[in-house]
Amino acid sequence: MELKKEKSKLILHTCCAICAVGLVDALQDSFSVTLFFYNPNIQPMAEYEKRKEAVVILAKRYNLELIEGDYRPKDWLKLVVGLEGEPEGGKRCLVCFRDRLLRTAEFAKDNQADNFTTTLLASHLKNEQVIKEIGQRVAKENVLNFLNLLDLDYQKSFNRLKTKQTAQELGLYKQKYCGCLFSFRG
Ligand code: SF4
Repeated sequence: MELKKEKSKLILHTCCAICAVGLVDALQDSFSVTLFFYNPNIQPMAEYEKRKEAVVILAKRYNLELIEGDYRPKDWLKLVVGLEGEPEGGKRCLVCFRDRLLRTAEFAKDNQADNFTTTLLASHLKNEQVIKEIGQRVAKENVLNFLNLLDLDYQKSFNRLKTKQTAQELGLYKQKYCGCLFSFRG
């Protein structure tokens, strides 16, 4: 009789439900996935709650564990002091990506997970290469494995249609700006 092999644990930093759909599909066969909603950059709180609620719906649909990280936007704002006027994709975002990935790595270590990755990689509005480099650096510092899209059976263009269909089916909230108040354009 062949023993059933246990799946390796993976923490998926989840910035929003829309970006998570395709990644969850690509990861679930090989890993035991926990969604980690850690996004202190998102303001105001009403917006944060809307995005979190969409992730709750997704977690239920895929039967995944969902953990919410600390929400301390004032602490996050301290991290980006002096970078308020940076354009989206600039230096403020590097700090923002690193903070979220570092906290995800710490959570992975605290919970005996060897792997982590982020839905930020799936967004067509973000620089995948930059996020990959930060993820790999954080992984090295914490002796963990960071998965990037090339490690997975995941193609952004292919997933766009499927993501759209699933998002419509589940009625997932789709945000209109990246997250921080500096990226909000009214
Ligand atoms: S624009 Fe987005 S990634 Fe950049 S700092 Fe704001 S919330 Fe973070």
